[in-house]
Amino acid sequence: MQDSFGRHITYLRVSVTDRCDFRCVYCMAEHMTFLPKAELLTLEELERLCGAFIAKGVERLRITGGEPLVRKDVMRLIERLGARLGRGLKELTLTTNGSQLARFARDLKASGIERINVSLDTRDPEKFRAVTRWGDLNKVLAGIDAALEAGLKLKINMVALRDLNRDEIPDMLEWAHSKGMDLTLIETMPLGEVDADRVAQYLPLSLVRADLAHRYTLAESDHRTGGPARYMQVAETGGRLGFITPLTHNFCESCNRVRVTCTGTLYMCLGQNDDADLRTPLRASKDDALLGAAIDRAIARKPLGHDFVIDRRHSKPALARTMSLTGG
Ligand code: SAM
Ligand code: SF4
Repeated sequence: MQDSFGRHITYLRVSVTDRCDFRCVYCMAEHMTFLPKAELLTLEELERLCGAFIAKGVERLRITGGEPLVRKDVMRLIERLGARLGRGLKELTLTTNGSQLARFARDLKASGIERINVSLDTRDPEKFRAVTRWGDLNKVLAGIDAALEAGLKLKINMVALRDLNRDEIPDMLEWAHSKGMDLTLIETMPLGEVDADRVAQYLPLSLVRADLAHRYTLAESDHRTGGPARYMQVAETGGRLGFITPLTHNFCESCNRVRVTCTGTLYMCLGQNDDADLRTPLRASKDDALLGAAIDRAIARKPLGHDFVIDRRHSKPALARTMSLTGG
């Protein structure tokens, strides 16, 4: 699949649920309204949808959400997708908040998943509770250990938040690298109505990088994972540090991704409103001709890029939909 700017689309992120057992302050309002269950694609429909993308050249699939591991029987879908590895699909991965990992780590590894991303913004139990509202840090840490023991490679994703965790970044870096995990820092993106003040939360990673360059020797790395992160090698720890900088640096020129939600809506760009309904063609016929044509039409419309800005006066989101719906 090639879009009108010549970019090859080889990476699909699949949000299998918009629900979550946390309420991270930058992601959701505390009293979120979730989609009615009747609107969701079944696990079989999600598998068929992924299959149609694989047939069209998608090589990497990331299962995300919401919290993917809270969807009932999600392992059934993951196992079925894992069975497609080596048959068009080159990599199956997962992004999780880690709360259910202790329970699922071994099954995930057995399904063919090699590496996962775990989101963790702080290792301070009180700050963790403040940022996730509902989360229990000990469960996440136990989940991380279980995943490492199961033989999964881990990357920790940390959203950089000015007041919450700026001072903790060096500690997080050393902890992650001491366990053989990469660390990626993410700038907050203005997505969805949340209760918190985004301008107060926003911390440009250019500042973080300058802070870290005083303490560590950072060398550009050409490591790529197929995602938007740019990596540095940290000489003192021997580990890798990634930066995802949608606001201070636009990474759209090399975008190879699209995202599909749990209702079968395809978003061609995380930062734009244009979407395509794939549920109707999926349900209209048992063969994939209509679905394939709908995918082709959507890819041809993939926009050049997003234009996130933090509106410093109003702190309004750039888009109404949250990351938990689109699938981060
Ligand atoms: N629940 C899973 C988790 O937290 O890893 C998967 C879904 S979550 C939406 C995926 C990633 O998006 C997480 O790393 C989270 O920190 C990040 N995220 C959510 N809202 C964000 C925002 N407004 N700006 C930047 N990152 C965000
Ligand atoms: Fe849930 Fe992930 Fe959003 Fe946090 S970032 S509320 S864990 S979906």
